[in-house]
Amino acid sequence: MNQRDYYEVLGVSRNADESELKKAYRQRALKYHPDKNPGDKQAEDKFKEASEAYNVLKDSEKRQIYDQYGHDGLKGQGFGGFDDIVSQFGDIFGDFFGGKEQQRSGSDLRLDISISFKEAVFGAQKEVEVSKHNPCGTCEGSGSKPGHRPQPCRTCRGTGQVVRAQGFFSVQAPCPDCRGAGQVITHPCIECRGDGRVLKNKNLSINIPAGVDDGSRLRLRGEGEPGPGGLPPGDLYVIMHVAAHEFFHREGQDIHCRMNLTFSQAALGTEIQVPLLEDGKTKTISIKAGVQTNTAHRISGAGVPQLRGHSKGDQIIHLNIETPKRLNKKQRDLFKELAELDGKPIKETVKGFFQKLRM
Ligand SMILES: [Zn+2]
Ligand SMILES: [Zn+2]
Repeated sequence: MNQRDYYEVLGVSRNADESELKKAYRQRALKYHPDKNPGDKQAEDKFKEASEAYNVLKDSEKRQIYDQYGHDGLKGQGFGGFDDIVSQFGDIFGDFFGGKEQQRSGSDLRLDISISFKEAVFGAQKEVEVSKHNPCGTCEGSGSKPGHRPQPCRTCRGTGQVVRAQGFFSVQAPCPDCRGAGQVITHPCIECRGDGRVLKNKNLSINIPAGVDDGSRLRLRGEGEPGPGGLPPGDLYVIMHVAAHEFFHREGQDIHCRMNLTFSQAALGTEIQVPLLEDGKTKTISIKAGVQTNTAHRISGAGVPQLRGHSKGDQIIHLNIETPKRLNKKQRDLFKELAELDGKPIKETVKGFFQKLRM
């Protein structure tokens, strides 16, 4: 088969730039794509022809060889051929056919930090260390030993993409051998082991706003991994792990706590000092005579501030009437006296009491 001139195939001039090539190829590829022309051999050939032409011309190295030596120049160079054609298809149509997504920034990082209960309520300033990748100084990020260069990957012929058949469809996938990079490092840099990057710790001061909760996520823009090839860096996500408090228990913006009352306090009424969230502060609460266990008191606005808002939750005090466990002689005598007044049996009188009932 006599090969047509690549410029002619795409219908562009010999000095067409990258965007003109791309546009021309896109038009032809969409028109002749096998999915659109099932069973049409002519369309398939045109599609292959356009793809091959574009594959050569978009690559400045191949284009130079082609311009100088024509089709023959590319033969025996490992250039051209259908493998190349399908593998570069995703580059231009990835967005159309759900192919690879282009990376637009560095990777996001996640950092888990532990904070105290009060730090979550009132906010805090935390100094942390984040481990990030930086370009390796020895190889200047190339990953190759000084004096060596990465070589195009043979598996994907430098495109970084391979095509796998999946039922009726062909699916683009990153090349398994170069992991999508399109090139392989034959002589890895000793410093970074060919990665081109080294881990470095960065100290960050994190401003934790008042009102965060366990599991809250803070996003620090631009504090993620540096972007490849000059792209913006990713973000850092800080995940809060809030320690439990021995006295307070939090539910959303409300704070719950438990206060114990003795029998006599509950029966006669009292005043109690309730500790508030703010260190050292208390609030006096008056308890009515005859209060029952599990009664709740609410202090409005003494809870947790809304994250980046103005409202505050409440503090809810659950009263617990405590049964005394170790009685001294005097207390025991008084309770017995009380029991007599109640007219209800106590352990020492149960037998006699029930005997009395049966009579
Ligand atoms: Zn290196
Ligand atoms: Zn590859």
